[in-house]
Formats: sequence, structure tokens, C-alpha cells
Amino acid sequence: MTQARSRVLWQQELAGAFTAVEALLDFLGIPAAGRAGVLAQASDFRLLVPRGFAELMRRGDPHDPLLRQVLPLRAESAAADGFGTDPVGELAACTDGGLLRKYHGRALLIATGGCAVHCRYCFRRHFPYATLPARGALDAALAELAAATDVHELILSGGDPLLLDDHALADLLGRVAGMAHLRRIRVHSRLPIVLPSRVTPALGRLLAAQPQRCVLVIHANHPAELGAAAADALAALGEAGVTLLNQSVLLRGVNDDADCLTALSERLFDCGVLPYYLHQLDPVAGAAHFAVDDARARTLATALRSRLPGYLTPLLVRELPGAGSKLPLL
Ligand SMILES: *Cc1c(COP(=O)(O)O)cnc(C)c1O
Ligand code: SF4
Repeated sequence: MTQARSRVLWQQELAGAFTAVEALLDFLGIPAAGRAGVLAQASDFRLLVPRGFAELMRRGDPHDPLLRQVLPLRAESAAADGFGTDPVGELAACTDGGLLRKYHGRALLIATGGCAVHCRYCFRRHFPYATLPARGALDAALAELAAATDVHELILSGGDPLLLDDHALADLLGRVAGMAHLRRIRVHSRLPIVLPSRVTPALGRLLAAQPQRCVLVIHANHPAELGAAAADALAALGEAGVTLLNQSVLLRGVNDDADCLTALSERLFDCGVLPYYLHQLDPVAGAAHFAVDDARARTLATALRSRLPGYLTPLLVRELPGAGSKLPLL
């Protein structure tokens, strides 16, 4: 039964994503020649940008905030104190099967290593996906989860868990459906933003049929990421009964601006999504040029609190290695 299933639309779109810097800049009408000094020479974390996401970028603008999130810059190779390859101490907490038990009452499963977009500031950009989760170790991870009756929420993470196809996702959800101690299934995914065609009616039905309540935490950093296709996808997920939250990362040159973050919260709410976290950057090697200092981060958070209702104000947090929960920066 190894016959390949034919690719569905979102898989075709992903296969057509930009993987070359020149092709992306060409598409955006940005002359690569004048940018040679700031672009990375080579990177082991290659460029990956679906076309639909590139279409949301401003043509001709080398400083576009969406482009900045995905464009490999020479600045990535500058060494920075305190920036490493395992910034939040995950490797020590991860089993061979990809189950991470560092948060109280919650377990996180690395469901797949793949993503549809490569975000330059990703805290897992150096994660050893080639060996974690280990091949064939899912059974062991699920057995561990079944025995962990103090865990009430399963978080599917990655990579992007919605890159699993419907068969694989249905299989995984089916195997945890009977675990009565799990009250919630949470999916962390950027696909409704960067590859909204992944949100098919079948996916909505799958999540709606799960006995546990499903929460989807999307990842948008800038209001321009929420185009019409993303809005439609999110509306469909809302109709399927999925609770929708957003997490953002505070990024210099992308969203470190009170007007931008205010507009992001407003746009999220228009799409049926509540802002959840605003993360201070995890100190991952290659991302130091995105850092915003804590004083400025607090000023921005205070500005948001003064402009928006509490339910549209994300909580500014930092992840600390070894801690069982986020640390709010108040
Ligand atoms: C913090 C964190 C979680 C758990 O988040 P809570 O919402 O605080 O339960 C899950 N995954 C990642 C990657 C995180 O950083
Ligand atoms: S989509 Fe998420 S996991 Fe994937 S590269 Fe971006 S931030 Fe990292």
C-alpha cells in the first residue's frame, strides 16, 4: 500500500513556493544587484516562501515587513552573545519520540519537522528534525502520553503540524481521541496565514469531529499577513468550532511599532482571532538583528493596553529555559 496519493491543491502550492532569493526578489521587482551587500551568501536554513504569502508583500520595497521575516540577510552570520542553537532548552526536555514535557499539565508533540515558510527568527531553526522525532518513535510517544494522566492538553507543534496530510492528521487525532485525560487538543500552525488553501472543508470536519475541544494558535506578526484568503480560512475554522488565538513575535523592523501592533489586533479580531501572546524574541543564533530591548517592548505593551480593550491586548512574555510557563514582562 505504498502507492503515492496524488497531490492536493495546497501541496501543489507548497511545491511551487519560492526557494531562491533571486526569484523572490525578481517577483517583487527588487533589483538583487543593489542588495548583494546585505543578503546572506549561503544558509543551511534555506529561503522558503509560498507564492500567496509573497503576493501580500509590497512590490519594490526591500524593507517590506513580510519580506524581512523571510529574507536571509548577511546579519544572520554575525555572532551575538547569548544567542545559541537551543535557545529555550528544548533538547533536554524532548524524548526520542518528540514528546516535550516541560509545561505543567500540557505535553507538546513535534508532529513534523516541515514548515511552509522559513521564518528567519524561528527559535527552532537549528532543531535537529533529522533525528527528532526518531523514526518509528511515534508509538512510544503516544504510549507515554496515554500514561501521563496529569496531562490535560496536547499541543501539536513542529515544524507545522498542519503540513501532515489529512490521512496522517486523522490517524494522529484518532489515536488520542480516546485519551480521557486530554481535555483539549491545541494546534500551533502558521499555515492559515502562509498557505490558507491548507484549510479545506475536510480539515474543518476533522477538527470538528474530535471529541476534545480544538484550539488553533496561529502565528501572524503584521496585519498585512491577514489577507482575504487567510480571513476566509479562519472564518471556516471558526465555523468548525475551533477556538482561534494568535501569537506574535516582537521583531525589530517588522512590528516594533504601536500603530502596527494595534492594527494587528484589530485585524485579528475582524478574522475571529484573539491575540494571545506577544513573544520577546528567543535568543536563537542568526536572529539577533530582530531583537527589541525589554524597555522598548514594555513601552509598546503599555501603549497597546492604553489603546485597546483588554481582550485585544496580547500578553508580552518571554520563554525561559527550564521554566514551566512563560514569564510575563509587565
Ligand atoms: C510557550 C509555548 C507553548 C506553551 O504555551 P502556553 O500557551 O503557555 O501553554 C507551546 N509551544 C511553544 C513553542 C511555546 O513557546
Ligand atoms: S512557521 Fe513557525 S516553526 Fe516554521 S519556521 Fe516559521 S516560526 Fe518556525
